[in-house]
Amino acid sequence: MPLRPDALRSPQPAERNEKNTKRKQTVKLGLSLAGLVTHRIVMPIRPENRWLYPIDWPQLSVTVRFERAGARCEHCARPHMRRVAHLGDGRWWDADAKCWRSTRGRRIMLKGFALAAVRTTYVVLACAHLDHDPGNSASANLAALCQRCHMIHDAAEHRWQRWWNVFRRRAIRDLYEDPRITRERLAKR
Ligand SMILES: [Zn+2]
Repeated sequence: MPLRPDALRSPQPAERNEKNTKRKQTVKLGLSLAGLVTHRIVMPIRPENRWLYPIDWPQLSVTVRFERAGARCEHCARPHMRRVAHLGDGRWWDADAKCWRSTRGRRIMLKGFALAAVRTTYVVLACAHLDHDPGNSASANLAALCQRCHMIHDAAEHRWQRWWNVFRRRAIRDLYEDPRITRERLAKR
């Protein structure tokens, strides 16, 4: 029997069931929203730490970032919600002051640089706990940091957290795992 010309065509919009269409719309919406909000989800509060934050944390964070820091990173002086050009090593172009700045926000002179090395990044300030303790929200322990400075500041803590998670997993396994399973698992390596 010859194939009808429409046998292989994809279903037309009218033929799709409503559920399918709805799902598509949700996916579309999700994607478009994701594009809008990614810059806001830079330093999410870890769920297990959420209860440590004071109830007025959003206001506290706003006060530190905007009133105290003037919407600039307190380590490198990059401006909040602006796209800045940088050289990838922390040195960046301050378009307002028309000068290059160091990782510490100081004006610097550049004798020359490869144009190819220039990149741009969108700056988002978040309020950081300098001692990594979300329970310590004293003003001196808070700093408005851009994502670069935040990550550098947190790097040691992240390394420690990774080590601690692995250690904890191993310790729990050593306590509760059946030794025969441990032997099998080690034999597979
Ligand atoms: Zn910074």
